[in-house]
Amino acid sequence: MADQTSKTGFATRAIHGLEHARQPEGALNPPLYLSSTFTFDRVEEGAAMFAGERPGHFYSRVSNPTLSALEERFAALEEAESSLCFASGMGAITSVFWTFLSAGDEVIADKTLYGCTFAFLHHGLSRFGVKVIHVDMTDPAAVAAVLSEKTKIVYFESPANPNMRLVDIAAISTIARNVGAKTIVDNTYCTPYLQQPLKLGADIAVHSATKYLGGHGDLIAGMAAGSADDMMQVRVEGLKDMTGAVMTPLTAHQIMRGLKTLDLRMDRHCASAQEIAERLEAHPLVKSVSYPGLKSFAQFALAKRQMRAPGGMIALELNTDIGGAMHMMNALTLIKRAVSLGDADSLIQHPASMTHAAYSKEERAEHGISDSLIRLSVGLESARDIWADLESALGTLKATSTAPKAA
Ligand SMILES: *Cc1c(COP(=O)(O)O)cnc(C)c1O
Repeated sequence: MADQTSKTGFATRAIHGLEHARQPEGALNPPLYLSSTFTFDRVEEGAAMFAGERPGHFYSRVSNPTLSALEERFAALEEAESSLCFASGMGAITSVFWTFLSAGDEVIADKTLYGCTFAFLHHGLSRFGVKVIHVDMTDPAAVAAVLSEKTKIVYFESPANPNMRLVDIAAISTIARNVGAKTIVDNTYCTPYLQQPLKLGADIAVHSATKYLGGHGDLIAGMAAGSADDMMQVRVEGLKDMTGAVMTPLTAHQIMRGLKTLDLRMDRHCASAQEIAERLEAHPLVKSVSYPGLKSFAQFALAKRQMRAPGGMIALELNTDIGGAMHMMNALTLIKRAVSLGDADSLIQHPASMTHAAYSKEERAEHGISDSLIRLSVGLESARDIWADLESALGTLKATSTAPKAA
């Protein structure tokens, strides 16, 4: 698998996968198999498939040819043995966790996580006898200190949503492997084009395919990639029986279309985000900018080491109170106020009141999510137009903050 992968470039694999299999009827794209079930010529054939003695599809909650086509392509991009499709990023994350955990096990998770992942671990999974320990994973020694033989999963995002903190994937994976725990990395912010957690030593990469992989803001989906054994176990336990969070064939088809331009889109997202981050950093009304491509970024060296490029996401704080930050966001005209990220359209949101509202105020303070943080997903529009929108919205703030308190 690894040998085959190294033969072709990322863009070629994103378009063709590893194999240039002829599609039915010579179709350029894999056909859309809108079929919940698959027929057997003879009862014995079905029995052999159910027993795992014969390959083939029999029910689309277990497998479907359109999903298989995406799974092959995505595995080739993460350079994994195997990959799996899910109904959503949360479907991927929860299916993987349910597969590998039992009551009495421990999970070690980073402090900063996507809001619903935090809610699942901290408020959900912990009700089922699984102990969840949050540590600051920017410090590998802190992870080593809480690992034990009860630890089954070590989980983090890098960059973390929303504050952009990075975690050293190679260092944490090595520490976790020593106690037999699986390292699971949420690679949503990077996609396999910018970062390949498995090549850095992690066991499983999970993704919200809703974001850059789909890339056009028109679907909800998730992916996971890992060893053939791990993915088979997730398929037949977590996905098939515990969550049923199955992707529809139409969504798989849309994601395959998105993947064909993934590297082109990511290059533009990264170039524009770099330019916007630099301009924001130089603006007098901006207090701080967290972007892995800035020399001022605390983990600039780690970003260079484990990411191909710094990505399309920026976290920033203004020199104003939260009312001022909201005023600025409301003054934007091109950039849309919306959650989600990784779309062609630039999107801006306020994590404390939106994506990370599952954290209490105290938890946000404890977990490094400032109430004044703004999250910007830099889209594919012309960078000068994105900047013009931000500059003019920041300009209205200046006008209000210096104007007498009349209106
Ligand atoms: C959006 C997101 C998720 C959840 O994915 P859905 O597709 O919305 O279920 C998980 N992790 C990260 C980092 C995300 O940005």
